[in-house]
Amino acid sequence: MLAHELALAGVRTVVIERRPEIDARTVSGLIHERSVELLEQRGLMEQIRREDGEPLVWDRLHFASFWLDMSELAKTDHSVVLLQTRIQRLLSDRAAARGVHILRRHELVGLSQDEDGVTARVHSPLGEEEIRCGYLVGCDGEDSAVRELAGFAVTRSGPSWYGLLADVGSYAGPVGAGSFHEGGMFGQFGDASTMFRLMTIEIGVEAPPAEQPVTLEEVRASIERITGERPTVEEPLWLHRHGNVTILADEYRNGRVFLAGDAAHFQFHPAGHAVTIGLQDAVNLGWKLAAKLQGWAPAGLLDSYDAERRPYGRRACVYGRAQMALLDTADGPSALREVFGELLDHDVVNRHLVRAATDARYPMGQAEDLVGRRVPLVSLSTPGGEVPVAETLHAARGVLLDLSGGTEPPDVTGWKDRVDVVAAEPTPEIPASAVLVRPDGHIAWAGEAVGEGLHTALAAWFGEPAA
Ligand SMILES: Cc1cc2nc3c(=O)[nH]c(=O)nc-3n(C[C@H](O)[C@H](O)[C@H](O)COP(=O)(O)OP(=O)(O)OC[C@H]3O[C@@H](n4cnc5c(N)ncnc54)[C@H](O)[C@@H]3O)c2cc1C
Repeated sequence: MLAHELALAGVRTVVIERRPEIDARTVSGLIHERSVELLEQRGLMEQIRREDGEPLVWDRLHFASFWLDMSELAKTDHSVVLLQTRIQRLLSDRAAARGVHILRRHELVGLSQDEDGVTARVHSPLGEEEIRCGYLVGCDGEDSAVRELAGFAVTRSGPSWYGLLADVGSYAGPVGAGSFHEGGMFGQFGDASTMFRLMTIEIGVEAPPAEQPVTLEEVRASIERITGERPTVEEPLWLHRHGNVTILADEYRNGRVFLAGDAAHFQFHPAGHAVTIGLQDAVNLGWKLAAKLQGWAPAGLLDSYDAERRPYGRRACVYGRAQMALLDTADGPSALREVFGELLDHDVVNRHLVRAATDARYPMGQAEDLVGRRVPLVSLSTPGGEVPVAETLHAARGVLLDLSGGTEPPDVTGWKDRVDVVAAEPTPEIPASAVLVRPDGHIAWAGEAVGEGLHTALAAWFGEPAA
């Protein structure tokens, strides 16, 4: 996603990926509506709909093995079933088509940075090589080499349990999304038409050494220890151990090196929001890096990445840890679980849990409710016909939506190379005379289309006007 963002802005970009190809495992299957919006605003959902049809809406979400009540939120906060491999393929093809060099079978093994750039040391099929770049972003997951090599400090907790995840083709045994027992918790999701996903959590049981491959017998034995029932488990598709580790980078930036996605924040994942938070990181950082490289970034723009995104990474980690506490079968946590279950009878609690880490509102110095939030992706009535807001963001440039109905044409002369103007009829979903939308889709300013306020906001987010 980040490479695609950078390519849209015309930045020369190289992706170093150690895998020979996109992993066909269907590890993650759900993305939140906020991710769909990000893909929509770059015109990427069109291709998915064209080729695969409308993705299935998933209006349930589990939090610590409680099903959240999504009925209130079904329109705005549902998830859709979109396999991670599908998104990766789409992004990878689109980024490559825009000139990104994707070097597979290339593993980052070293890096050093100086005032002018970063040198990455890479193992490739042809031997070791060096790649020199202006900036380097570690989107390299939970065990991020970039995080380690660049010396990022992290706050880490866990593991305190031993867990297994198993995707299998054939299963007979205990059922249900989450059953709690003295020794741990067991969950079973899916069915024979797709696949069975089995999940175990055992407290006080030591996990086998990490280098020992997970076997079907290990899965059967764990389920039996927890539930007392011996299951039949066959046709392994993917077997994985998961401890409840949480890792949050203390900073997302170290000089010319950045972290995004799981490399920046890794947390227990059953709420299905990890991909969304990672995509939000990428879209937040892409245009800022481009602005810096193209010489128009106002002071502090690059640092605003950490300021805006780390609170949501932290939130994801805190909510992950809270889920782990609720899944603990010890006496205190199980009482807490009962109380928590009662709180979930209230819509406001469900809403809060669903939105806590995904509904990003960044501090932009204006009190208006709109400012800092994502621009609603509604359809606008323009002199040339209906134009979806999402379409105005396809090029990943700034956009001034002039919703004054043509009474106050704004003057953005000095910023025309960075900001487009779209004039449209007022719309109740965006209650302002004009809004300035950043390339990531967040509203940076709202106010009157003419006057000092607009020019101050343009300078604050898009730098000095061109002469
Ligand atoms: C069972 C399971 C189910 C999940 N379900 C969901 C879900 O439904 N919804 C959701 O939102 N999230 C889900 N997640 C979480 C989601 O999969 C992750 O948050 C997501 O993959 C993180 O993406 P990423 O790009 O940050 O890192 P990764 O997907 O880990 O990608 C990192 C990439 O970096 C590469 N790499 C690593 N080190 C190097 C190196 N030194 N040199 C070169 N390349 C390197 C790796 O090969 C990999 O391709 C699930 C996770 C699991 C385990």
